[in-house]
Amino acid sequence: MRANPNFQKLPAGYLFPEIGRRVRAFAAAHPDAQVIRLGIGDVTEPLAPAIVAAMHAAVDEMAVRATFRGYGPEQGYDFLLDAIRAHDYRSRGVEIGADEIFVSDGSKCDSGNLQELFAADAVIAIADPVYPVYVDSNVMAGRTGAPGPDGRYPGLVYLPSTAATGFVPEPPKGGGIDVVYLCSPNNPTGAVMTRDHLTAWVAWARQHDALIVFDAAYEAYIQDPALPRSIYEIDGARECAIELRSYSKRAGFTGVRCAFMVVPKELRGVGAGGERVSLNAMWSRRHSTKFNGTSYVVQRGAAASYSAEGMAQTLGQVAFYMDNARLLREGLTAAGFTVFGGQHAPYIWLGTPGGAKSWDFFDELLTKAHLVGTPGSGFGPAGEGYFRLSAFNSRANVEEAVARIRRVFA
Ligand code: PLP
Repeated sequence: MRANPNFQKLPAGYLFPEIGRRVRAFAAAHPDAQVIRLGIGDVTEPLAPAIVAAMHAAVDEMAVRATFRGYGPEQGYDFLLDAIRAHDYRSRGVEIGADEIFVSDGSKCDSGNLQELFAADAVIAIADPVYPVYVDSNVMAGRTGAPGPDGRYPGLVYLPSTAATGFVPEPPKGGGIDVVYLCSPNNPTGAVMTRDHLTAWVAWARQHDALIVFDAAYEAYIQDPALPRSIYEIDGARECAIELRSYSKRAGFTGVRCAFMVVPKELRGVGAGGERVSLNAMWSRRHSTKFNGTSYVVQRGAAASYSAEGMAQTLGQVAFYMDNARLLREGLTAAGFTVFGGQHAPYIWLGTPGGAKSWDFFDELLTKAHLVGTPGSGFGPAGEGYFRLSAFNSRANVEEAVARIRRVFA
């Protein structure tokens, strides 16, 4: 069997395994150190009681012949699709059809899988820095060359999102791009795109016949009601954008697994003969061919996150993490760091002291303060000189982390 050669283009060590390796080595050499991990963006609060009750009830249904369920509808049960349409979209003035929503087991899989819609030689643009899955999954699919010494993959279009642009990518001057991935609120920088930013991107995509993949995994962390939560709040977005949503960070589902993807009926790609093809029809065909639906019990849990109690409880968790973010922001600022993000996202993005290399600062923070974060360079070349701290942790750990940072760096 000839194996996929594109995997050899990926860096040998993925970001998080390398972090794990360094932390294990440090812990082995310093067994008494109380290491606090603010690295991986995983939730720490247990599932909300309303979600637990709904999942228990669903398990009980599965235990009885009369209410047992086997395969469900591939796109998702109506009770969840209706809740999504009402709470995520209609409440923001957006009408999304039930047949435009595809429930899945996670946005990571969705963001990788959806490229089956793209031509093999499609030109991909990504913000830099950004969630690494967009780049790596396109490398695996063979849309790039081997990375250069600067870590950039030939064939990919990088859209630098730096302090100069408020960490928001700007539309390129011309076209020639098939797909652009946008993530707002952004992982890792915490930057959020405004209505003006999104309006400019939608105008660009329509002018150049490009597709926007809009990853709104952190939408629930937006604190300002005037900021858009969905790209479909922008006129014309139904003709140029796919949207990804996840229950992972909004309802603590990182271990439960549920997400959805919106593919509007108006979305068209260009077929082999130049004809227009419906991306909704293609994705429906793909989804029903390769996916047998998200678990009934899990979908009941996701739907419960929209009930009055479920909403209050999950929003309470989001508020808890955002308070952690505020404590980190304030503590880091008091210690003299330049801090971004953390206002509409559970991530703090800080400049390393003196512009130190991200990995050097990782080692310094680990050895001096016994704290683990994520080097900015792991999210793209433009992340060099920056560092991400996650607000997903207990209050005690966040307070202790802030105290250590102030002690070591102030
Ligand atoms: N999109 C972004 C921007 C993320 O940061 C993450 C997870 O960290 C995901 C998607 C993955 O979400 P899920 O847990 O639904 O696979």
